[in-house]
Amino acid sequence: MPHDDAVWTKPTAAVRHVRVKETVRILVVGGGYVGMYTALRLQKRLKHEIRSGEAEIVVVEPRPYMTYQPFLPEAAAGAVSPRHVVVPLRRVLPGCRLLVGEVRRIDHARRTATVSTPATEETGGEDLSLPYDLLVLAPGSVPRTLPVPGLAEHGIGFKTVEEAIGLRNHVLEQLDIASSTRDPAVREAALTFVFVGGGYAGVEALAELEDMARYACRYHPAITPDDMHWILVEATDRVLPEVGGEMGRYVLSELRGRNVDVRLETRLVSCEDRLVVLSDGSRLPARTLVWTAGVKAHPVLESTDLPRDARGRLRCTAALRVQGTDDAWAAGDAAAVPDLTAAGPAAPGRHGPGPGTGPAGECAPNAQHARRQARTLADNIVAHLRGTPQKEYRHRYAGSVASLGVHKGVAHVYGRKVKGRPAWLIHRGYHLSRMPTFNRKVRVLAEWTLAGLFKREIVPLGSLEHPRAEFEAQVRRGEGPGGGAGT
Ligand SMILES: Cc1cc2nc3c(=O)[nH]c(=O)nc-3n(C[C@H](O)[C@H](O)[C@H](O)COP(=O)(O)OP(=O)(O)OC[C@H]3O[C@@H](n4cnc5c(N)ncnc54)[C@H](O)[C@@H]3O)c2cc1C
Repeated sequence: MPHDDAVWTKPTAAVRHVRVKETVRILVVGGGYVGMYTALRLQKRLKHEIRSGEAEIVVVEPRPYMTYQPFLPEAAAGAVSPRHVVVPLRRVLPGCRLLVGEVRRIDHARRTATVSTPATEETGGEDLSLPYDLLVLAPGSVPRTLPVPGLAEHGIGFKTVEEAIGLRNHVLEQLDIASSTRDPAVREAALTFVFVGGGYAGVEALAELEDMARYACRYHPAITPDDMHWILVEATDRVLPEVGGEMGRYVLSELRGRNVDVRLETRLVSCEDRLVVLSDGSRLPARTLVWTAGVKAHPVLESTDLPRDARGRLRCTAALRVQGTDDAWAAGDAAAVPDLTAAGPAAPGRHGPGPGTGPAGECAPNAQHARRQARTLADNIVAHLRGTPQKEYRHRYAGSVASLGVHKGVAHVYGRKVKGRPAWLIHRGYHLSRMPTFNRKVRVLAEWTLAGLFKREIVPLGSLEHPRAEFEAQVRRGEGPGGGAGT
């Protein structure tokens, strides 16, 4: 396999005419659900073309791994190690070229992407220009934020493995702070955990972390679970719409039964100076504010010459082609794809006719659609190359599963509603089966098995985020009075 930087050496127009076989370069932007699964299928279906040099797949992704986001809440709770919720792209995509970097701009009229890489950022060099023939745009989504005073300074997101592990360490550190202070105001703020947004990410993250913190209280004689104040703030009148109305109400009663303070039809007004102010008038000193209030299409799409809808997503046909093009495809959270299985016009609000359908009769942004769309998308690229008809994406939403902590969960799949331990087992079984690669499945299963045999890990390792702090402090001490060479 040629070296990574060979991606810049695509034959120019000047030399193309002397080549017998022209290499078709397929550029995949993003190595998440859609990007990785599309590349996996393309490398399988275009095996011979890749070997003969007729096709080349280049995946551009800022991190050299795909994150299995549904496992982030379990990673935050310590049930799965961070390394096992990510999939190394270099290992699973040996037939593709991985370029670690960020696409900054797409000029589709010129079939060129502008990419910044760690090297260009390090040296302050110019972004690189990457030519392509066919484009797959799958940069996913980013948190949908609002101009709430204090949010940028104190809010914590929950979309990456770094955030999940950072939050775990942060929560455990708050227990240490509360245990070691005599100041009631510091203690109250340390033991108040506010989550904004009652979708998958917010509910699962809160439920898993509350469960973990409740367990950790056993090792803090000065804290009982009742001393903690966990608050879920949701702007609409329900939580977890993905599992339907009845199961959503069950989630509410389960959380409230655990003393979680769920505030529906409530918004975050501000969170300056670690004081959380809500629209119901409450003022809560809190050192933890997690923002999971929905997602919006990735802003890189604004720097393309491709058509977007009012919400910034790429307008796509049911065959996952970007409207008005015949050589650009998109899917996942970044794409507005018609849901051909939608029963009727969309109801106003967050979701359409069914939980798997988005606001305007389009596929909702979730992993279930993203993974299946990737398959159709890759097949359509192969069909395009072979001159055969492309297929429309059609998938009837199967339902949803969610974990609410160890042995607790909720599921609404194929019309069947399940709760408690059986739902938790369905959640684990489903996600284990979906976790990419056999290697990762075995590792996750081994971790779950060991967790059943031994006690939970409750050590905060926040200092890992500052590995040089200890050494720097030593150096500074050495430079101070009495320090210096020879001492
Ligand atoms: C905590 C959490 C839990 C979830 N749980 C569930 C669940 O249980 N079930 C479910 O169905 N869905 C769940 N989801 C939603 C699901 O994970 C997403 O819908 C899915 O990941 C979307 O796939 P995607 O490929 O569009 O985006 P992603 O998987 O997010 O991939 C996008 C990729 O593009 C990369 N990228 C971004 N910008 C650029 C750029 N400029 N250049 C190059 N690359 C770029 C990103 O780094 C990322 O790797 C969950 C999401 C979260 C955050």
